[in-house]
Amino acid sequence: MEYSAPKSTCLLCKSEFTRRGIGRHLTSCLKKYTPKTKNSLHRKYCFLSVQAVSDPDYFLYLLVAQDAIVEDLDDYLRKIWLECCGHMSSFSYGRWGEELPLTTKIRELCRRGEPLNYMYDFGSTTELWIKIYREVACSLEIGEEIILLARNAEPIVPCDVCGKYPAKHICKECQWDGNGWLCDKCATTHECGDEMFLPVVNSPRTGVCVYTGAEEKERPLPKSLKASLAGKKKTAKILKIK
Ligand SMILES: [Zn+2]
Ligand SMILES: [Zn+2]
Ligand SMILES: [Zn+2]
Ligand SMILES: [Zn+2]
Repeated sequence: MEYSAPKSTCLLCKSEFTRRGIGRHLTSCLKKYTPKTKNSLHRKYCFLSVQAVSDPDYFLYLLVAQDAIVEDLDDYLRKIWLECCGHMSSFSYGRWGEELPLTTKIRELCRRGEPLNYMYDFGSTTELWIKIYREVACSLEIGEEIILLARNAEPIVPCDVCGKYPAKHICKECQWDGNGWLCDKCATTHECGDEMFLPVVNSPRTGVCVYTGAEEKERPLPKSLKASLAGKKKTAKILKIK
């Protein structure tokens, strides 16, 4: 299917990047925004990216506390991207590797640094690829287990029928024949009826099983993620010169 993928925003500095550029940007941006000093109240985080295997234009960049466990990541992925009816899921190193126990510490993944494969639902599977950036660890004041740093902007998929407007509904029957992604207008005259529709949502599980979107809204970034003082001073100086 032809579609356009708009640029995605780095939630730290609010700049926009393409899929290919945002990972590299985040690794450097994160250095500016994390505190240089740490104390006993800090928690270590691991930086990782999650991509849909079927379509890498769906991605997430996350900081995950190293003392959290794989089950916390599973919960998070379900909430933001996947959960429709409580299907089974699994994590493994590589596609055919041994399944990881849900109690595995994130610290362990970080130490090993190997990419992980994740599957949700062993029937209509949504498969994800998790990359660990070992070299980018950071310490933040104790806060949430998982912090979202960037996610893909929603791809704009044109309606299969008119090709003019963005699709908003997916007909569960017709999507397999290549004419099930429908705009609001074309949906009203679609013969299958709206009980066959699923909404188009920003998730690799859109149109799958009975998925209708995320359970909860994205949370704001924690206060401990701020531009370091040095960075701020520099900006101030430049402004004075002007
Ligand atoms: Zn940034
Ligand atoms: Zn389901
Ligand atoms: Zn249309
Ligand atoms: Zn239909």
